Amino acid sequence: MNTIDRARLKNALAQAEQRFITEHPRSQELFERAKASLLGGVPMNWMVKWAGAFPIFVAEASGAHFTDVDGRRYLDLCLGDTGAMTGHAPAASVEATVERVRRGVTFMLPTEDALWVGEELQRRFGLRYWQFTLTATDANRFAIRLARQITGRKFILVFNWCYHGTVDETFITLKDGVAIPRQGNLGPAVDPAATTRVIEFNDRLALEAALASREVACVLAEPVMTNIGIIHPDPGYHDALRAITRRTGTLLIMDETHTICAGPGGYTRAHGLQPDMLTLGKPIGSGIPGAVYGFTEEVAERIRQNTTVEDADTGGIGGTLAGNALSLAAMRATLERVLTPEAYARTIPLAERFEAGVQSVIAEKQLPWIVKRLGCRAEYWFRPAPPRNGAEAAAAVDAELDRYMHLAALNRGILMTPFHNMALISPQTTEADIDHHTQVFRESVEALLD
Ligand code: PMP
Repeated sequence: MNTIDRARLKNALAQAEQRFITEHPRSQELFERAKASLLGGVPMNWMVKWAGAFPIFVAEASGAHFTDVDGRRYLDLCLGDTGAMTGHAPAASVEATVERVRRGVTFMLPTEDALWVGEELQRRFGLRYWQFTLTATDANRFAIRLARQITGRKFILVFNWCYHGTVDETFITLKDGVAIPRQGNLGPAVDPAATTRVIEFNDRLALEAALASREVACVLAEPVMTNIGIIHPDPGYHDALRAITRRTGTLLIMDETHTICAGPGGYTRAHGLQPDMLTLGKPIGSGIPGAVYGFTEEVAERIRQNTTVEDADTGGIGGTLAGNALSLAAMRATLERVLTPEAYARTIPLAERFEAGVQSVIAEKQLPWIVKRLGCRAEYWFRPAPPRNGAEAAAAVDAELDRYMHLAALNRGILMTPFHNMALISPQTTEADIDHHTQVFRESVEALLD
């Protein structure tokens, strides 16, 4: 096996950083100017975490490509971290949203599109009732609130190194088996240990133990973990998760925000899962803000018995713009004409091609790395075997190598998803785009080896 020479890596990274600066003068200029009006020079604080010295400022995008303010064109394998999994500006969504903007955007009243979307979500996910929010974070927050309300239990359970948006209860991690607040948990309302139990994914015994006392309202889970790398469930794990949650009266919430890459009905439908509640945001409106949460008939009945309409606008579940006409027009167009079964029939084989291309380079160069895939999402990891849980995955993070691989790709015209090396495939991505990535991956690796 080849190992990466750290001195050589440092040198290659320094060169890549310099090239990035030289080739993006306009982005650099805008970034410097932005520092006078935007905290850190960016609209959202995490935008400074990109691998270059400053973020690339975008001019425009179409399909699988975007152009920056320096006139450089990129293959976008980040796709807004799933928000643009539809490809940028898909024609059907553009038409429907422009049309809706002309006829009014938000009313505090329903439009007919809501019915179409609700019925389609029923068909796709098998859950009976649906509600709308603006973000996946809110969908998770509201699902958790309802779960606590109807069970009368105060805890939730999440998996170590999960991410479900900026949801207070989820900023908890395990250190040597002890639950502690996750690093960077800013101004927490309460210690998350007061609200949350955290265990490792794929650990059935820990799950049994955590739910046994029947104090946990719900398990909030991605069906496949995606935010600390792709971590697939062990065979039979989902059966156990469902059986144990049912036996202990714990509700099971599946967050399909990223795993919608697995198929038109997410991983839930593709694998016949039976959650009590399901949440989904990001690409559901082709990137127009909007998200959904759905629940079974039984959960709906318990909600009816436990909530009153008088509390509906002040009860912690709300949002003036939630369920607005524009979001719903975008969702309808996306579900009806963009994220169709035919789209997945294109994107999943392309992700398989990405996986095979990267795998061939890893094998040829004898690197102790792996490539993993879920539907139309794939990523490579700097460890020889797939991790089974968050702790194993987190231990394999190599920030310096990540940064290098990211910048090496960017300098060759490819944007990968930041903070790990993930690629997402849109319906407009082509075989030539994928082969371009394989070539870029090969060149990036070769610069590190003799
Ligand atoms: N759920 C999952 C699984 C996510 O990965 C994210 C964001 N990466 C969210 C929810 C939150 O999405 P948003 O930031 O759009 O609210």
